Amino acid sequence: ILNVKELNKAYGKKQVLHDINFSVAKGEVVTLLGPSGSGKSTLIRTINGLEDYQSGQIFFQGEEVVPTEKNLQKLRQKIGMVFQSYDLFPNLSVLDNITLGPVKVQKKDKKSVESEAHELLKSVGLNEFASAYPRQLSGGQKQRVAIVRALALHPEFMLFDEVTASLDPEMVRGILDIIIGLAKNDHMTMIVVTHEMNFAKQIADRVLFLENGQILEQTPADKFFSNPQTDRAKDFLESMD
Ligand code: ATP
Ligand code: MG
Repeated sequence: ILNVKELNKAYGKKQVLHDINFSVAKGEVVTLLGPSGSGKSTLIRTINGLEDYQSGQIFFQGEEVVPTEKNLQKLRQKIGMVFQSYDLFPNLSVLDNITLGPVKVQKKDKKSVESEAHELLKSVGLNEFASAYPRQLSGGQKQRVAIVRALALHPEFMLFDEVTASLDPEMVRGILDIIIGLAKNDHMTMIVVTHEMNFAKQIADRVLFLENGQILEQTPADKFFSNPQTDRAKDFLESMD
């Protein structure tokens, strides 16, 4: 479903991604691991068209994504993304945050979008918060709304970038369980950036290990965690224990 070829990206003179090559198959869960500053967020943002790049190609569903404004808008309808900071619209209710994209951008029927939004909220235990505003929610609740908002667009692919990193520990489990459910029950295709190694072990089909903007390893998850191929990955896993 996704194919990245020879991708190079720099911020100014600083090269941040070097010759990135990988693909993700439909239904596959890939976790992107690597030290802080290795380029994980940059790679995720580039895939979703939030960052430009200097050379290389990105194919989605077999078609090259030529980064025009129109193509990128289309792409973002199909790829849902959730970040570390839940960027909900503060002046909109939870329900309106969720329905805005499907109604305004995808031009779907408001009534049916709203009833689906209620179903999704129920599935993450937040139905009674539909008319609340983001400031009235805890961090974990906001993050659940951010996930529901992405899912309401019926994405073909999800990108999660350290979605539990700014949460209190007691909120983390609930969010991770939602993502595990998406992978195991809905067979959602996804790339997950995380520092939670147990979660990564539970969810990943394959691991991409990134360091200094290069993919040092791409290995089936069981093999990566039991027997990493590079010393750098070994050190990384030990530092995570
Ligand atoms: P972390 O685990 O801390 O989130 P990361 O792997 O996501 O790290 P990135 O945020 O992708 O790393 O950053 C990769 C490199 O690019 C870093 O050296 C960072 O300083 C640099 N960088 C990131 N964003 C920008 C930017 N907007 N302008 C300039 N440099 C940037
Ligand atoms: Mg990051």
